[in-house]
Amino acid sequence: MRIILLGPPGAGKGTQAKKIATEFEICHVSTGEIFRKAVTEQTPLGKKASDYLDKGLLVPDEIVEEIVESRLDMSDCCKGWVLDGFPRTVNQAKSLEKYMRQKVLTLDKVVNIKVSFEYLIERFTGRRSCESCGATFHINYSPPKTSGICDKCGGKLIIRKDDEIETVKKRLEVYESSTFPLIDHYDQKHLLINVDGSKTIEEVFADIMQYLKDEDKP
Ligand code: AMP
Repeated sequence: MRIILLGPPGAGKGTQAKKIATEFEICHVSTGEIFRKAVTEQTPLGKKASDYLDKGLLVPDEIVEEIVESRLDMSDCCKGWVLDGFPRTVNQAKSLEKYMRQKVLTLDKVVNIKVSFEYLIERFTGRRSCESCGATFHINYSPPKTSGICDKCGGKLIIRKDDEIETVKKRLEVYESSTFPLIDHYDQKHLLINVDGSKTIEEVFADIMQYLKDEDKP
């Protein structure tokens, strides 16, 4: 099973991608997580990417494409994958298509999680992330057991720099100009399914599974 998740930042792609990966026993590849980890660890990639992340801008295509291809080449991805946050431009989509042709792989579905921008701003402002392990919570929708403390590792919960309101607005603008055209791109290939991302996590997941259940499990 090979799936792409589309949707604006904050639509819940990460949460759904993790659930899909567990259900189908496939690999969850989040480019945002890869970049954030690299920034925290101050690797050469992190140093190149950090300015783009802080400003809510896209990391240049060539950097992202190289990172994704080397990730997909790893052995844990051989059973399949769900991509969260990639592709984000039509050029990235074309580069993925070229990579998949070379590896003789097919894409099963592209899931587009639809949410209004007003709703997203509300979601973002309540989002809290663990500064140690990156786990995310929401003060209203999925609060941690103890306020300000990560359930998973006990780390401190913070507002990520790229979740600050001005950065969020920039990320949404970038989504609209660069990523939104991908919806048409995949619709023309008859791969697109649309789900309503304003429902609860479990309802969105059930809707996605409804569409994916007829696909072959790996
Ligand atoms: P995300 O967590 O997916 O919203 O990604 C966080 C940030 O990482 C984005 O705002 C971009 O700066 C960068 N990023 C993640 N994925 C991509 C991508 N496919 N292309 C370019 N930049 C990306």
